[in-house]
Amino acid sequence: MNRETDVLVVGGGATGVGVARDLGLRGVETVVVERNGLTGGATGNTHGVLHSGARYATSDPESARECIAENEVLREVAPHCIDPTGGFFAQLPEDDDGYFERLRNRCRDCGIVAEPVDVESVRRDRPYLSPETERLLRVPDAVVHPFPLAVANAVDVREHGGAVHTDAEVVDLLVDGGEVTGAEIRRPGATGTETVRADHVVNATGAWAGEVGSLADVEIPMRPSKGAMVVVDYPPVDAVVNRARPATDGDIVVPHDSTAVLGTTSEAVDDPDEYPKEEWEVDLLVEKAGEMVPDLQTAPVVRSYWGVRPLFGGEASEFEAGRSVTRGYTLLDHGERDGVSGFTTIVGGKLTTYRLMAESVADHVCERLGVDAPCRTAAEPLPGRDDPDALRSALSEFEPLPPAEERPSDARRS
Ligand SMILES: Cc1cc2nc3c(=O)[nH]c(=O)nc-3n(C[C@H](O)[C@H](O)[C@H](O)COP(=O)(O)OP(=O)(O)OC[C@H]3O[C@@H](n4cnc5c(N)ncnc54)[C@H](O)[C@@H]3O)c2cc1C
Repeated sequence: MNRETDVLVVGGGATGVGVARDLGLRGVETVVVERNGLTGGATGNTHGVLHSGARYATSDPESARECIAENEVLREVAPHCIDPTGGFFAQLPEDDDGYFERLRNRCRDCGIVAEPVDVESVRRDRPYLSPETERLLRVPDAVVHPFPLAVANAVDVREHGGAVHTDAEVVDLLVDGGEVTGAEIRRPGATGTETVRADHVVNATGAWAGEVGSLADVEIPMRPSKGAMVVVDYPPVDAVVNRARPATDGDIVVPHDSTAVLGTTSEAVDDPDEYPKEEWEVDLLVEKAGEMVPDLQTAPVVRSYWGVRPLFGGEASEFEAGRSVTRGYTLLDHGERDGVSGFTTIVGGKLTTYRLMAESVADHVCERLGVDAPCRTAAEPLPGRDDPDALRSALSEFEPLPPAEERPSDARRS
């Protein structure tokens, strides 16, 4: 792969392929390198909720506004990667009445259509909801499928002259006179490394951003946080069901085909590759989900999996210095921040807001490269929307990794 390109993006999650697609549509040639398979990091290990933003409306209205805006954009440009299931926030007897009202008001303030609905009539169609349900708020949550979404982005990267390489790990960054000029890439089983030289390098490695930053002697404080999810064989659930209370463990149930995904926990971890996957997390999720949907307590568990949130752990001063684009995600210009030019890191955010994050990065990189071209990803359909064949071969080429427990005992892939 020894080559030269305009921009090298490290990380093949939604953010990385999103950045590369955005740049490609602006005429900037981009190469993506991903050490595992596409979506092998947090992107492939989420609940797959296309958030309406309601989940963040009381705690982080800025993120909530971003979510509803991107929810609407993605329904237009990528409907083939989305199931428009809708969602509910369910209040149970032990939940605070005042929270439901606050949630409803904050949703309105953030532009999220959230309407209280009659519990009995909803339960007639959805008897799986607990008979103890006291109030329900309907919100425009949906389900997004991260793998076809990432593949659609990757296909467009190629169509615009770029490349996407999986099983390609960045093991060193080339730094020349205070400027990052490329990277050394290692392939499994290969002797030696390959070199990609680029005018700009984007670090989109999520929870691993600190490790990649250290290759250019740049410190990126991350606070990785693991979250468990449990897949249960239970076809009836047909909408995202959230608990109407402040965010805590075990407050969401997400329909995926004939299964329900129960989430999640939130525990700080030291190493995003090596952390305990604990039985108590699985038990807790089944118990808590069962409060909203009682049948889930006895439905067969198919498997459990974990993801690691790419949370930025920088000081408040980093945000105040304007380096945080919003509280939802953070863009670090290492030229300004660390005196290492040609290098940008993007961390945080959500799968739902990947396109917006990518737009911020692409705006920034284009400014640095002197490229004057507007972002087109909010209006340009992703490959596969109008022509399902456009994705068919790429989907099998980038085939996702099997579930963790079926993989060989390679820590990276577990
Ligand atoms: C438990 C959990 C549930 C979530 N649920 C949702 C949800 O329902 N909806 C939602 O919107 N968001 C959700 N999120 C958030 C969402 O998953 C992430 O914010 C988003 O996927 C991050 O994408 P990313 O591309 O930035 O990072 P990642 O997907 O982690 O991508 C980073 C990539 O970089 C690669 N990489 C690392 N080091 C190197 C290297 N040296 N060389 C090459 N490649 C490298 C990794 O292998 C990885 O694939 C959830 C997160 C968690 C943890």
